Amino acid sequence: MTELVDAPADVKAIRHWIGGKETPGGSGRSGAVYNPATGVQSGSVDFASVEEIDAAVQAAKAAAPSWRALSLSRRAELFFSIRQLFHEHHKDLARLLTLEHGKVLSDAMGEVARGLEVIEFCCGIPTLLKGGFSEQASTGIDVYSIRQPLGVVAGITPFNFPAMVPMWMWAPALACGNTFVLKPSEKDPSASMLTAELLAEAGVPAGVFNVVHGDKVAVDALIEHPDVSALSFVGSTPIAKYVYENATARGKRCQALGGAKNHMIVLPDADIDMAADAAVSAAYGSAGERCMAVSMVVAVAGVGDKLVAAIQDRIPKVKIGNGLDESSEMGPLVTREHRDKVASYVERAPGEGATVVVDGRASCPDGDGFFLGPSLIDDITPGMDNYRDEIFGPVLGVTRVETYDEAVKLINDNPYGNGTAIFTRDGGVARQFQFDVQAGMVGINVPIPVPVAYYSFGGWKASLFGDRHIYGPEGIDFYTRTKVVTSRWPDPATSKVDLGFPQTR
Ligand code: NAD
Repeated sequence: MTELVDAPADVKAIRHWIGGKETPGGSGRSGAVYNPATGVQSGSVDFASVEEIDAAVQAAKAAAPSWRALSLSRRAELFFSIRQLFHEHHKDLARLLTLEHGKVLSDAMGEVARGLEVIEFCCGIPTLLKGGFSEQASTGIDVYSIRQPLGVVAGITPFNFPAMVPMWMWAPALACGNTFVLKPSEKDPSASMLTAELLAEAGVPAGVFNVVHGDKVAVDALIEHPDVSALSFVGSTPIAKYVYENATARGKRCQALGGAKNHMIVLPDADIDMAADAAVSAAYGSAGERCMAVSMVVAVAGVGDKLVAAIQDRIPKVKIGNGLDESSEMGPLVTREHRDKVASYVERAPGEGATVVVDGRASCPDGDGFFLGPSLIDDITPGMDNYRDEIFGPVLGVTRVETYDEAVKLINDNPYGNGTAIFTRDGGVARQFQFDVQAGMVGINVPIPVPVAYYSFGGWKASLFGDRHIYGPEGIDFYTRTKVVTSRWPDPATSKVDLGFPQTR
């Protein structure tokens, strides 16, 4: 957990953003922000009190009527300006991610690029908000539907995508005409502040987008605030469930995306080099701190030995280092505590009966950074902690089964259902897999099947609480409510009202 500390004098102070300006916190509580590559504290982030959450919600509420009244063409125009500014500041944003999250710069650039896709999708908001129209539903009666914003909506986001996951929320929310309060992760909050500055520079009016930092106090205050109509949450499953249950109990709309344990099935006919490359990049990219990371490889019918050898071969080539060094391919973990927790799974694997093929503890660069090298653990079975838990670090497990059916059963029996993948050359089996598997996002020879921005992102089972996936068409659904209008106008031919001009019928 982030410590509550008094900030040393030379660390950056990270404030809230309320009503269009940076606003120092007054709660007296704050959290330390680290550069994970050096282990040095780089910032101190103010933690909001209940009153400060209220101030942000009030700012958003005051801005809502005129924001919602802005024409669709003007809103679209603003989104084109937002897109341009984020494009120009792509690298600035990416550097902030590397400095506070630790992911390597190329990965951080990729994160911003995937977020930009969502902004681009929102540039088409006039089309996305179109309703339906039924002329002559009954004689002289027309029926049509319109989409309207919800009002003030809030987003609570995790540490692992500090720019992109907020973009999944604020971009469609604002495009639909809502005003927004963001509570980003307290571990890497600076990207949200740059986001606020860029939105203001693009011309988004004060109060339309607000940022409040903090912990459970801030989250609970958003859940309980009567003027917050909807909450989007992305983070771990226990907190997702907590937010969903408490928000919906108060009558709020809520989509709460949780954790994952993503399995990648490799069939005997797969291209082993392709599968091994995919497993390495999907397990160790971003130090495994991705909700779509592959954490379990399921090797079917004798493919295990070849596959494990191919992955083992590739691991020493993954260059671990400070993410700002452009030759680095894998950075540190986000905090020292998290690094130690992840390492504890490698420590206890032999005691659970698994085989440590590569021990990442042996390949950490020197220094105080929160590094842990890639680990590969074979012979994992469902009863083990290494199988059950979302480790959320650079630890790839391998489990071996005899048949395709056993492999699919493992996935379908798992409490999570975020992403999954199959590697095979057989189109018929791949098609059967997409039919059988219980997960929200499926890759066929693609290890991390994050949907493009014009589809929606979301898992099944304990990976998502709620009934709407995030961004894409379901994001538009989530951030709007429909109104159906039934209308009848007097027939001009029979109307007794003098219209002042001759009737033609
Ligand atoms: P987390 O659940 O610890 O934190 C997420 C947010 O909840 C943060 O803003 C945090 O401040 C807040 N929070 C933490 N504890 C809280 C509490 N007790 N009460 C109220 N609010 C609380 O998650 P994290 O460690 O930041 O992120 C990693 C997790 O997020 C992983 O489980 C990962 O799988 C998941 N994740 C899921 C997706 C997805 O799309 N399904 C995407 C990214 C991350």
